[in-house]
Amino acid sequence: MQPVKVDRLFVGARLATMAAGRPGLGVVEDGVVASREGRIAWVGARGEAPPFEADDRVDLGGRWVTPGLVDCHTHLVFAGDRSDEFERRLAGESYADIARSGGGIASTVRATRAASEDDLVAAALPRLDALVAEGVTTVEIKSGYGLDEATETKQLRAAARLRRLRRIDVETTYLGAHALPEDMARGAYVDFVCGTVIPRVAREKLAGAVDAFLETIAFDAAETARVFEAAAAAGLRVKLHADQITNGGGAALAARHRALSADHLEYADETGVAAMAKAGTVAVILPGAFFMLNETRKPPIAAFRAAGVPMAVATDLNPGSSPIASLRVSATMACVLFGMTVEEVWLGMTRHAARALGRDDVGVLAPGKACDLAVWSVDRLAEVVAKIGPSPLHMRVWRGA
Ligand SMILES: [Zn+2]
Repeated sequence: MQPVKVDRLFVGARLATMAAGRPGLGVVEDGVVASREGRIAWVGARGEAPPFEADDRVDLGGRWVTPGLVDCHTHLVFAGDRSDEFERRLAGESYADIARSGGGIASTVRATRAASEDDLVAAALPRLDALVAEGVTTVEIKSGYGLDEATETKQLRAAARLRRLRRIDVETTYLGAHALPEDMARGAYVDFVCGTVIPRVAREKLAGAVDAFLETIAFDAAETARVFEAAAAAGLRVKLHADQITNGGGAALAARHRALSADHLEYADETGVAAMAKAGTVAVILPGAFFMLNETRKPPIAAFRAAGVPMAVATDLNPGSSPIASLRVSATMACVLFGMTVEEVWLGMTRHAARALGRDDVGVLAPGKACDLAVWSVDRLAEVVAKIGPSPLHMRVWRGA
């Protein structure tokens, strides 16, 4: 048999492929991953592998190998600091009180408008590096802290630059409908988002998706639907901050618009869960904000599980409600606070998170997929989320290198 020519061979791996159609995490003992031109050329058990001719051979010494992690919901490009609000909340003020007094998102908007694109990149890099250090190979980054056209596009350009500064995939999302700017009326602002910014974002390929915040303190269902229709007309996929603080029918609305994901979902009801299951919309679970704001209402994990809604877990990394630059800690919180299983959070950081971004080339180990790997020095994969502190990541591979 002619040897198969590949660039690099990873051997001595215990694989958790996360591949669909396999039970659990798709475990393969004594596995091999072969990479060619940044893609997986072959993956499986050593005993079934064809002969390879490889330029390089890496023995992983029996370590666990998973797909590189995917953080599918972050706001990590921003300026300013809101740790004063942490102290104010501890002293008894609510998130809504702080927002009404000019804090919250409005405070980050002021700081982000004043920052240069270089400032934003410099401020974002340490946050991104924290994710990279724990094995993240694909990250989503939203705008939403400019609200005006110049700052929103500046945020999206800064996010795109991070892609070139680190070996990582960055998916950008336009979140103009995050908050109402202080200097515009509601109707005029939604017109501006739909008629001016969304077409430009699509034309200049500044973002691959459009997000909105459907909530009593942000935008209503009719406004959100308009934003989604404008996104669809421009050829962009949609996602939604849904049912976080109140039940606004966000889960069902997201499903109706074939959203990639509905995110937060603490107040999602049965109708919403059923609609998401039917539409194939991913539930993105974000325990960071729940924890930092000391909330009590939990997302309906058991209902998502029963309905077969794929669940992802993400950091929601942002300056106010979830200043958490750790996907591992977010997964730990999803288990402890929300009752997700270790298997569910692993799928939630890989295959399901990729699906929440509309990506079918990452998040699983299978032929033809990107060769993005996280190699772990642990005996059991549960250790990665059962402990907080030193990272058990041994090696991170992006596009085969
Ligand atoms: Zn968010």
